[in-house]
This record gives sequence, C-alpha cells and structure tokens, in this order.
Amino acid sequence: VRAVQDFDKVVDSVCPFCGVGCQTKVAVKDNRIVQVDGRDGYANENRLCVKGRFGFDYAMSPERLTKPLIRRDDAPKAGDIDMRDVDPLTVFREATWEEALERAAGGLTSIMAAHGGQALAGFGSAKGSNEEAYLFQKLIRQGFGTNNIDHCTRLCHASSVAALMEGVGSGAVSAPFNDAMKAECIIVIGARPTTNHPVAATYFKQAAKLGKQLIVMDPRGQDLMRHATHSLKFKPGTDVAMLNALIHVIIEEQLYDEQYIQANVAGFEALKEKVKDFSPEAMADICRVPAETLRDVARTYAKAERSIIFWGMGISQHTHGTDNSRCLIALALITGQIGRPGTGLHPLRGQNNVQGASDAGLIPMYYPDYKSVENPDIRGTYENFWGQTLDPKTGLTVVEIIDAIHDDVIKGMYVMGENPAMSDPDQAHARGALARLEHLVVQDIFLTETAWHADVVLPASVHAEKLGTFTNTNRQVQIGRPALDLPGEARQDLDIIIDLAHRIGLDWNYGHVSEVYTEMAAVMPSLKHISWERVEREESVIYPADGPDQPGNEIIFSTSFPTADGRGRIVPADLLPPDEVPDEDYPLVLTTGRLLEHWHTGAMTRRAGVLDAIEPQGIASMNPREIGRRGLHQGEMIAIETRRGTVEAILRADREVADGMVFMPFCFNESPANMLTNPMLDPFGKIPEFKYCAARIVAPAAA
Ligand code: SF4
Repeated sequence: VRAVQDFDKVVDSVCPFCGVGCQTKVAVKDNRIVQVDGRDGYANENRLCVKGRFGFDYAMSPERLTKPLIRRDDAPKAGDIDMRDVDPLTVFREATWEEALERAAGGLTSIMAAHGGQALAGFGSAKGSNEEAYLFQKLIRQGFGTNNIDHCTRLCHASSVAALMEGVGSGAVSAPFNDAMKAECIIVIGARPTTNHPVAATYFKQAAKLGKQLIVMDPRGQDLMRHATHSLKFKPGTDVAMLNALIHVIIEEQLYDEQYIQANVAGFEALKEKVKDFSPEAMADICRVPAETLRDVARTYAKAERSIIFWGMGISQHTHGTDNSRCLIALALITGQIGRPGTGLHPLRGQNNVQGASDAGLIPMYYPDYKSVENPDIRGTYENFWGQTLDPKTGLTVVEIIDAIHDDVIKGMYVMGENPAMSDPDQAHARGALARLEHLVVQDIFLTETAWHADVVLPASVHAEKLGTFTNTNRQVQIGRPALDLPGEARQDLDIIIDLAHRIGLDWNYGHVSEVYTEMAAVMPSLKHISWERVEREESVIYPADGPDQPGNEIIFSTSFPTADGRGRIVPADLLPPDEVPDEDYPLVLTTGRLLEHWHTGAMTRRAGVLDAIEPQGIASMNPREIGRRGLHQGEMIAIETRRGTVEAILRADREVADGMVFMPFCFNESPANMLTNPMLDPFGKIPEFKYCAARIVAPAAA
C-alpha cells in the first residue's frame, strides 16, 4: 500500500464492473490509476473483489481508441477479416471528429430518408451511465422515430423482468442483497455469486457463518456450496420441476400464509391445481434431487420467519426463463416471504448499470420507468415532452434486430459500448448480420469485435473518465466521478451522443450532465426526491425515497404491489424441455457463463494485466470422470461442436461440472463460446437459451 502523498489525487467513485456497485477510492499519479481501494459504501463496506481492486489498467491500455476511424473504401469486406493480427490502419483510416460525425450521421439519415426510421436500430450499454442510457434511447426514439432500441439486459435478466412485471408490477429487487444478514433462510439459485457478484457473496457467507440456512441450487457445483446447509445439484433445465415440487409441499403441508394470500395475492387456486402432479416423489427422478431433500428445503423456506431468494442467469437464460422466475415469485407470494426486512426477491444484476439503463428506457417496450410505448396516453406525454410524434409499436429486441438485418428490414445501426459480435448467440449469424448492414456506427473504447464491422468508429470514454450516475442491483443510485483525463482525441460518450443528435436534426441543449439527470428524473417517478445534488452529496441513495430528506426505502412491497389491483399475481408454470436436448449426434450439454477474473465479453478485463495473467486463454471445463471416459486429457486442445459451429479451447478438469456437461466462459475471442450457443428465445423475455444446448467433442483441426 502506498502512502497518500504518492498520489496526485484520490477520487471517490464506484466500481465499473458488476451490479454489486462497490464504492471505490481511485488513486491517480501522472494521469494513471495506480491503486483502487474500497470505501465504506452501503453495498461493500470497504470490500472489493479481484476485478474491482486489480482490474483497472484497461483504462490506460495502449489499445485505447484515441482518434475517430472511417473504414477505407478498399478495405476487406466487413466480416471477412479477423482484426486481432491486423494493423487497424490497413482497414480504417484516421479522421477528424467533424468528418467522422458527418459520415456517421449522414449514413444513418440517408437510410432514414430512403427506408424510414424502422430501418434503423440502436444498442446502448449497461456499462454506461444513467444519463448516457437516457439520452441514447431518446436519440433513437426522437431522432430515428423507432423503438428498435435495446441492450444487454436482453441477454441477462429479460425473462426475470418479464415475470416480475407480470407478478409484482416492478422489475427491480424487493430487498437489497445485504438483507441476507437479516434472513433466517437464504436461497441462491442459478447464480454463482462468488464468481459474478463476489462482494455480495461475502454477505451470504457471513450469514451462513451466523447459522442461517443457506440453500444453494445449481447444476454445477460452486464455492458457495462449501458454506451451504443444503446443496442441490439438480439436472440442468429442470428448474420448474424442482420449484413446483417445493410449492407442492408447501401447499400439501399447509405451510402457506393464508392470511397474506387472502389480502395480497391473486391466482393461488390456479397454482394449487397446477402443482398437484408435481409431488417431490414424482419429480425426484426428473430433477435428480431426492424427494426428502425437496421436502426439507420447502419446509425450511416456508417455516422460516424471514426467507429471501437470489437468482441469476441459471434461472433466466432459458427458453423457459420466465417460467422459472414465475415459480420463484409464486414461492415468495404464497408464503408471504416478501415486503419485510430479510425477505423478498432479488435477481442479482450482472453489469454495473443494468438496473439503471433499463430504468432509463434503454429497452424496446418501455419509456423510462417501464411505461409502455404502446399506451397512447403515456406516448402522448412523451410526444409533448420531446416535441415529436413517436413510434406506437414495441420495437425489436437484441436477437430480433440481428434477425431483422438478415431479413433486410434493419439496414443501419448505432452501437454504443455493446459488443454483440461476442455476446450474442450463434455468433456466425450475429457477425454475418453486422457485416450485412449498410451503415454501422460503433462508439467504444477499443476496436472490439463489433467495431471490426463498423463503417465509422467513434473513440469514447471509460468509466474512470466520466461523471454520471449508476444504479446497482440494490436500487442504489450512485455517483461515478472522473479520475483520468481522456486519451488523445477520445471524447465523453454523452458529448458524442449529443453531437450526433444535432447532426440528425435534433435541437438538444445540454450544458452539463446534471441537466440530463434532472430531465430524466422529471419523467421517472422512481427518482422523485432524488436530485442530482442529493446523489452528489450523499454518494448513494436507494430509490424510491419518500422525501428529499428521507432515506430511500430498502424494502418495497410492504403494503401492496404496484399492480392494477395492488395484488401480487401468481402465474403457474408448466415443465417444458430446453429447446435443444442431447441426442446420439450431440450427446453433451453445453452451458456458458463467466469467470471470476473476466467480465462479460472480456473487452475490458482481458486488457487488465493481473486479470489476464490469471486467466489468459480460452478454456472448456469438463468433469474429470467425463474426461477419462472419453480418453481426453486435461490441458490438451479440444474442439467443441454444436449445430452452429466448432470452437477450439484448452480442456480443463473441473469437478464442479456435472457428467455429460461442458462449461465454457464467453469472454475469450480465440475460443468464442457464443459461436456455439442456441439463439432460440424465451417467448416472454426474448432472452436466448445460453445455458443449454446439445454439443459434442470432435478432433481439433490441427490434430
Ligand atoms: Fe466491482 Fe462487483 Fe467486484 Fe464489487 S463485487 S469490486 S462491484 S466487480
């Protein structure tokens, strides 16, 4: 640890990575971050994980984009080239901002003139601030005249939000993750917090140490199971069978809260009818959990004074992801385990601002604060506010936009901080779409795999260079402050959006980021009483707040739900198989996810020296038994094949992976897991089935 006098300044900010939203102290010397420490924030109490503490040097990477780029007329066709081994200046030429912005806006407006605004789409980013998300969606809606606007929330918790909006009238968490400490029983299902939300996981481990019941349900084993009272390694894809069995027990043994249901819940009778056939004895073989364990878990959850449920992508990234979440909502509603401290429903958010970006309207079906674009009254309000006739139809989602490019419906895109060439399922299909676009504008900090396909690349700002608000998984609106000057000619994302808006004819006038926040907060009841000055002053404010001097409400739904009749609504779920199940040709299940050291598509963490040194190469993990049975060896290069493609990766032995499964992280561009994944969507949340598809091992090409 260095002495404070070694630094030029120490800036209070928040971590740029996961949804936990740890508060940080960023120490700077000579315009370089040299140290990051935790602060005593509500979410982290001085703690940081390896990403927050050591993953900062991507911001100073020599690979940062510092000048606008325009694709050369004689460059290879987009998509025909892997730029990792190519000098970017053979494909792009440097340009002035004036020329690049003119080219960017000109391409978009000429498509609009020829085909209408519906031929355009935008991907924003959950890594950006609330103000950037708000302005980006406003530009797409007001400037392009379309609701074809989405971001990576579609790939993580879209199905959770669909079920929560339907069931409890709000997509946000009902209680902060810190409330695990107040619970008697904690369920963690389909989430690996020690990997993906490491500081939140410290609270779960602490709670277990204090004697709370910790129930961890995951087809893969995980570190948290070492602290758990119950560990259920259920068969992948059978969540509904297992969860309906728990509900069956609670109803059969009359462990539900009749009084709470009478006062607050609709749909209980239909649920009773649905789960009749889901006894633990009937489901045990299906989900591969003993009936007695299912009964024990159901009793533990229902009988506890306070029980809370956390979930992640293992629940949501399925074609039945909304049904999985519906079951969790039903569990909480029939037992009254919601609306009190230590109880509730908490989908753990992945990116630092995925909650805020969704709240700010960066989604195709809702304006800010989840107000339907199809409601004429609400649309009228926005038309008056923005002075523009707006698109009356819900727009296309991430995967639908990719398909619409192939169908020649979408012809131009503006992508800010998103990397669909790595994050979208069936990558060859996704990259084929990007290559097919007539005009692609990419605004980013690196020449990402998506930027390889761009006509114009606009060099933008990292988190540590910008001022703005970010909303974490707990609903805490927090302030991120600039610690570094921008490199070269890179610019603030917000300024780039505003300049593009001017060039497509919008008469915007913002002098400071706080003015954007104030406009956004004026249309978002959730931010009532939370002014820019308050967030600056208090660093972090949980929404909703009851007054300008009142602390925000950690617990919501205490008296009713924000639904039409004030009741929580149960929607019973059926057991449906995954879209693509193993067969003779493809006998294995491929599942994908993240690693502790690498975040999402790896654009940032693979350029962070410490993190990339720990996990430097693309891997595929299998159980040692499965490796032995197949005559394979740990450390050798294997090729994993699905109906969408073949990818080579180093084989890693991992006892946590079940027999018959392969696990691949999706952050390695040399072993791109999403080349293999299934783009089939959940019908409600429109999220692809990243967690399950049929695969096989074949000989690598070099063998
Ligand atoms: Fe950053 Fe998340 Fe780690 Fe906290 S837990 S330091 S927010 S990556």
